[in-house]
Amino acid sequence: MYQKQIEQLIVLQQVDDEILILRDEIEQAPKELAGLESQMEKFTERRSQIDEKLDILNEQQKRLDFEIDEDAGKIKKSKNKLMMVGNTKEYHAMMREMDSLEKLNRMRDEEQVAVSEELVRQDEATANLTEEMSGVKEQYDALKTTLDERLAKAKKKLESLGRKRKKSCKAVPPPILGRYEFIRERMENPVIVPVTDGVCHGCHIMIPPQNYNELQEGQQILSCPNCQRLIYWKAHLEPELKEKPEKKAKAKPKAKAKAKAKPKAKAKAEK
Ligand SMILES: [Zn+2]
Repeated sequence: MYQKQIEQLIVLQQVDDEILILRDEIEQAPKELAGLESQMEKFTERRSQIDEKLDILNEQQKRLDFEIDEDAGKIKKSKNKLMMVGNTKEYHAMMREMDSLEKLNRMRDEEQVAVSEELVRQDEATANLTEEMSGVKEQYDALKTTLDERLAKAKKKLESLGRKRKKSCKAVPPPILGRYEFIRERMENPVIVPVTDGVCHGCHIMIPPQNYNELQEGQQILSCPNCQRLIYWKAHLEPELKEKPEKKAKAKPKAKAKAKAKPKAKAKAEK
């Protein structure tokens, strides 16, 4: 009876471990997706900033083209008129005007070079951003297409674990189950732990000899006096581990433990 209860509690513990992992996955996956989503939003924002800059630069380029053409036309006209000018004063005035128009256009040429360079830089920035974005997008798409599938699978598994859990619960007397749930709600996993060489595997502290003796008797389910977790003597489930029992007599071969626990054969208190 005792043995069976311990076994069922361990099954319950395993089921609960799996449930925790699945719940975590169900919770984390959408967060991961949301993270990628917000990354993409930031990319889009940066992209539109670059586009805005490109618009301004192109506008500037167009304006400069127009102004250069316009003033070049004026210069050409003046050159033609120059031949027909009668007096020197008018001639000089026209020359001065042409000079200043040419100077303006030279400045515009320089400005155009600067604008072209900036356009190249912004184009490069766009290309880089596009590349980064496509990487993230790929990740996002892959995650999104598998997410629903993964979630559905996890939920299905959860349901089957829920059924398995119910079955295990039935095999454990309500007061003990109550203790199990009580500990589970208040403490970190695991709830039920083995004891080997008198050491609790939950808190790694030696339990007092009288408790250890009682535990080895295997009459009722005990808690670790230190961490309160449910404890069992590992040798009860894996008889090949049997330590030299402090209490001689009582070690009746409660043996055939279908090593339902963990296959870790010679588990020497892995700390
Ligand atoms: Zn403990």
